[in-house]
Amino acid sequence: MIIVDRLPSSNVSVGGVSAAIALIEGSTTSCLADSTLAHSVPSLQPWAGRHKFGISLPTGNKDRNKWCYSQDLGKLYLCPNVAVPVNVTLDDWVNANITMTPVFKQSCHRTEPVNRCYNCKSIQNCDPNLAEHLVQVEGEGCEYSFINDRYMVTVPLRPPPPGEVSSTLLIKIMCLTSCVGGPNRRPFCIVLTLRNSVTGEEIGRQILDIKCCKCPSRDLTNDEKSRTPTAPAAPSAEEEKRTKVRKLATEIAVGQKRKRPKIKLEPGTDSRMVNIAVPIEYEAEVKSYINKLIAADLIKKWQPDALMYPEEESN
Ligand SMILES: [Zn+2]
Repeated sequence: MIIVDRLPSSNVSVGGVSAAIALIEGSTTSCLADSTLAHSVPSLQPWAGRHKFGISLPTGNKDRNKWCYSQDLGKLYLCPNVAVPVNVTLDDWVNANITMTPVFKQSCHRTEPVNRCYNCKSIQNCDPNLAEHLVQVEGEGCEYSFINDRYMVTVPLRPPPPGEVSSTLLIKIMCLTSCVGGPNRRPFCIVLTLRNSVTGEEIGRQILDIKCCKCPSRDLTNDEKSRTPTAPAAPSAEEEKRTKVRKLATEIAVGQKRKRPKIKLEPGTDSRMVNIAVPIEYEAEVKSYINKLIAADLIKKWQPDALMYPEEESN
């Protein structure tokens, strides 16, 4: 809680939002926090805030060799310099902006800025002013800034187009996670900070875990596999359950077979019995009919003369 309360003021003083800064500087200087707070460790705690700030990524994209998102790991795998759509949702589209700052995930590196490597910087082929920026956003209205040793980009929050529920940011990463002299194999994420455009107050925060690599689809698959060493327990439990069900089903089937009336010989006769289901209202009639059949058979066998018509004729 303390961190949440303190961060906005520290970030206001350093925030890369020139409009907000200008407003703040014009109105009051008390918001300009001291430099010790400016160096505070960035929070990696997602916080939807009162406007329910959220981000999401598509998972079913076709160009998975360029980027893909693991819902299970909550991690984006992407190639360098490939724009990935990040959907932003809010309960109400307040006058705000979003600042994206790359931050190392491991606490031992958290205070270090995540910079581009020398090699990638030197081959930046678009705007040379952006050469230092690891996180870049496609589209208009982006504001790139260098504050407190960190390069960051800020975009105004735009309400979604009619018929849509989310606004889309096209985010690019300009170095591999493995780039020596840059991230240098240290995992990092992007902190998306939502700030009130007028007051500069931090009103929401989301974290996007990143791996920038040459083969996103393969890395995602490997990571998902390696993350689930405990997973066999779950499937095996599931498998066990299935086996139990199968066994039970077999037992029931066998039981039913056992219960099924055995066709057996009546003692002293060669007739065999079978159980048949009879609607209860026909029970008496069926019994009576069976009696007639038995009587007819006995007469045929023992008193054929009692029959009015010879057997051949009756058939
Ligand atoms: Zn690089």
